[in-house]
Amino acid sequence: MGNEMFEFDAALGDAVFAYCRERLSMDPVPLDYGSLHPVAPELMKGLIRPEGRNAKEVLEFFEETLAPAVVSIDSPGFLAFIPNAPTKNSLLFDMVVACSGLNGTSWLESSGVVVAENQALEFIADTAGMPADSGGAFVSGGSIGNLSSLTVARDVGRAKRPALNPRDVRFAISEDAHSSIGNALHVLDVATLTVATDDHRFTRESLELALAADPHPENVIGVVATAGTTNAGIVDDLEGLGSFARDNDLWFHIDGAYGGAAIFSSTHRHLFTGIRHADSFIVDPHKWLFAPLDCCALLYRNPTVARKVLAQQASYLDVLHEGTDEEYEWNPSDFGIHLSRRARGLPFWFSLVTNGTAAYESAVQSAIDLAQRTQELIIESDHLEMVRPSSLSIVLFRRKGWSAERYNEWSHELLRSQIAFVTPTKWEGETVGRIAFLHPNTTEAMVREILDSLRD
Ligand SMILES: *Cc1c(COP(=O)(O)O)cnc(C)c1O
Repeated sequence: MGNEMFEFDAALGDAVFAYCRERLSMDPVPLDYGSLHPVAPELMKGLIRPEGRNAKEVLEFFEETLAPAVVSIDSPGFLAFIPNAPTKNSLLFDMVVACSGLNGTSWLESSGVVVAENQALEFIADTAGMPADSGGAFVSGGSIGNLSSLTVARDVGRAKRPALNPRDVRFAISEDAHSSIGNALHVLDVATLTVATDDHRFTRESLELALAADPHPENVIGVVATAGTTNAGIVDDLEGLGSFARDNDLWFHIDGAYGGAAIFSSTHRHLFTGIRHADSFIVDPHKWLFAPLDCCALLYRNPTVARKVLAQQASYLDVLHEGTDEEYEWNPSDFGIHLSRRARGLPFWFSLVTNGTAAYESAVQSAIDLAQRTQELIIESDHLEMVRPSSLSIVLFRRKGWSAERYNEWSHELLRSQIAFVTPTKWEGETVGRIAFLHPNTTEAMVREILDSLRD
């Protein structure tokens, strides 16, 4: 007789699998309510106790009380922030990863995971135009992807410029860079040259102007560009910034957490050719590449350099790091700020292999096409106007005459009525409407209903 916690309860297994089957077969996945249906604290009281509880009852409690208090990020009506639209195959395979407790830390333990994850990374690197020997790992998200990349960039920049005081090195970033870039640089204690952009797009010209006006341009060791700003979908001048960085021996990092997926768009891939200059590049499959949370593809042009900066050294880990560079066997743990990790790239890999790359291209394209169709509907309407032309899959619009408060009421009402989850944003200080498309099953009819709800 083993420990009871480790016995498989087949009846509970059936109940959990039935729940998963029901969730997977919902079409469309309902929105549910998030904080509009808060869970009363009394309901949670005393649940954790020495003797445990009946698992089926707790599963029911989850289903009836907790789950509705989460807005389904994978619903086609979720159009706020950046949605997440995992394919059914990726969700199913996430169950395989979960039920196998699949570890993806090192080559020694998990070579079968590593070859598959690396195949998916290689496919992204290849589509993005990065060199054949680039590589990295799947990390938890764009925030950790950016932090890991910028840690490598900082150390490489310091090493290249021994004459500089290491505390003085800086990165050139745009004022429209994602908050996680600021956060990473705060962690790293590295200052910025924050560049004023040309209509929110970071260009080579704006960087050159900022450097020319700066008293210490020699302290700038890297350039951080965004391939698709989260708020507006704007792709920086990757070609111009990248060639400038190459010419001046600066690290070039591209944050494509959201928009990098548009390398799969036939109409927009030309905006991303500058990725070929990148020293590091991230894109979140858990955003626009239809994988479940949490999954960011982190790629380095020179993975050996990244490994030398980030690999954790501990005597109990020496066995992972034996051998020379040539015989190095790939440890995903060496390429990010993490050690233990689940095989988080595998659901993406499985979906990519089974659905095929053409399905990815058309699913990415459909979000861009719907953003453009939405723009037409807004231009035709009399109560709405565009704030700026739609970019990638993001639409910023104005409801004529509305205050910030009115936008918020409308957003809550839309969720309460289960039509959609859309939240306002700020653009140049003004509260405006914002729709972020992503799910291929979001329809024009849904868009029309949303735009109609903005009438009164
Ligand atoms: C979402 C996003 C991030 C952060 O990614 P997480 O996966 O949420 O940590 C960083 N940069 C951009 C441009 C993003 O859209």
